Amino acid sequence: SSFEELGLRKELNEGLLAMNFKKPSKIQERALPLMLANPPRNMIAQSQSGTGKTAAFVLTVLSRVDFTKPTQPQALLLAPSRELARQIQTVIQQIGQFIKDLVTEAAIPGNVSRETGVRASVVTGTPGTVTDLIRQRKFDVSQLKVLVIDEADNMLDKQGLGDQCVRVKMMLPKNIQILLFSATFPEKVMNYARKFAPNANEIKL
Ligand code: AMP
Repeated sequence: SSFEELGLRKELNEGLLAMNFKKPSKIQERALPLMLANPPRNMIAQSQSGTGKTAAFVLTVLSRVDFTKPTQPQALLLAPSRELARQIQTVIQQIGQFIKDLVTEAAIPGNVSRETGVRASVVTGTPGTVTDLIRQRKFDVSQLKVLVIDEADNMLDKQGLGDQCVRVKMMLPKNIQILLFSATFPEKVMNYARKFAPNANEIKL
């Protein structure tokens, strides 16, 4: 199969070409048609790092954002560490390099302007900082369309982090598309995941 078959916007095909991604990896091939379908459905995907999972959720996010509203938050990608939130932001910028009005921001400690708050369409971040910004009304979540949780095994299971993820989700629009990615889904995490992302498509590589 090919990326062309997915019907991605042309800037994304250009980005994939520039990165020399010639064809979808296995997880991309299986997950992308499900994640891109309308009406949007939640996804629980088990996939090791190194399989191309980041590009899979980044392509989905960049397909759902309206770039005529470049500073209106529309996608939120949560990760367990600042480093991972930064790495994901880098992949967004690389794959999205031909999208003229793509603005991304990392909602990690010390990075968001106290005056303006979050002013980006695609926001990566850690759950604690994101919670604080929403509470301080520095992050308008009213137009978010997609929520990604990377390393869901670490995120949903850990004391503290899991609670923060649930608290963030409670503040988001009810119809948001939720994508959970994790290298492993032990039974306990899978139980959390199915509550967190109801009626999800499930993929296991
Ligand atoms: P990840 O699973 O997100 O950690 O990605 C692993 C590596 O695979 C990264 O270095 C990506 O740049 C690369 N990658 C992702 N998708 C593709 C693809 N379709 N073709 C070639 N390389 C890819």
